[in-house]
Amino acid sequence: MTDSPSILTGRPGAVPFSFEVYPPRTPDAAAALHESVQHLADAGPRFISVTFGAGGSTGGRSLELLRYIRESTDVEPLAHLTCVGHTTARAEALVREFLDAGVDRFLALRGDPPAGLGEDDVFLGDLARAADLVRLIRRVRAERGVIEVPGAPDIAVAAFPNGHPRSRNARHDIDALLEKQAAGATLAITQVVFRADDHLAFVERARRAGVHIPIVPGIMPVTSPARLRRVLELTGEREPTDLALDLELAPDAHARREAGIAHAARLARELLAGGASGIHLYAFNVHDTVLAVLREAGIPTHEKETAR
Ligand code: FAD
Repeated sequence: MTDSPSILTGRPGAVPFSFEVYPPRTPDAAAALHESVQHLADAGPRFISVTFGAGGSTGGRSLELLRYIRESTDVEPLAHLTCVGHTTARAEALVREFLDAGVDRFLALRGDPPAGLGEDDVFLGDLARAADLVRLIRRVRAERGVIEVPGAPDIAVAAFPNGHPRSRNARHDIDALLEKQAAGATLAITQVVFRADDHLAFVERARRAGVHIPIVPGIMPVTSPARLRRVLELTGEREPTDLALDLELAPDAHARREAGIAHAARLARELLAGGASGIHLYAFNVHDTVLAVLREAGIPTHEKETAR
């Protein structure tokens, strides 16, 4: 079964895509990011999501950026929110704070303990799993009278085609996704995917097990060997050997960038040909690389459509 594009985009026939950015660390970085966000918004994404530091380490900066997207573009912002380290009361207060700012779409995550700390070293919070946060968000949204639009991607969750590092086996990840769907999630976004078959096989298993919400693959154009190493370290994903080789052999930064874009664009085409109804692009706060991926993958953007 493929995902239904109509659920994800208001534009019939268009391939829905979305972007992910993270809160800037300095005022200079904020100014540059605002400019990038304008370019990303002009492309007509379904939403732009903003990451959230586990334990609330970037909470204020996430909200500032979400507010900027809400007030300065036509695009819906989607707020990542983690539950690790929060009491129920704190999590409720955070959700209300986002709703007060006009942000009512969320990516509900468990989050991880801060770097260097294990699960036994920290207060993990009252909400043990992302599904608990999905339920909490639904409840607080209902209390606030947020109108539910059937099928709208209003509460997203994470999915792991190659298994979460804590997962005992492949079935474990499908069960977690089923639990999040039962809690009220309406969209799943995956961990970064490097091979189309990994994603498509996962979606097939998930559908057979009863997952019916759209599962959108996360694509990251990786443009340097160092970044690839870091991403693999953080996610535990298997090395994409062809990309690793192309990045190593590329003679300069320009050639590495071209290689990263070409790989991501090919992956997007394969995923869409295999039935994926859309893609989520990790933008690393820079617009031109992800926009080049869309161009090279032949995915029409708003800019092109209006220019025609
Ligand atoms: P959960 O779904 O609660 O659990 C993760 C895994 O644990 C499951 O996949 C499963 O293997 C196991 N598990 C849990 N419950 C069950 C169950 N009932 N049955 C079976 N197995 C179970 N982190 C941040 O700190 N900030 C961010 O902004 C952020 N954004 C992200 C965006 C995306 C698209 C993705 C994929 C991840 C993101 N993360 C972020 C990382 C995420 O917080 C970590 O991967 C975390 O370890 C797991 O979060 P989760 O919401 O998937 O947790």
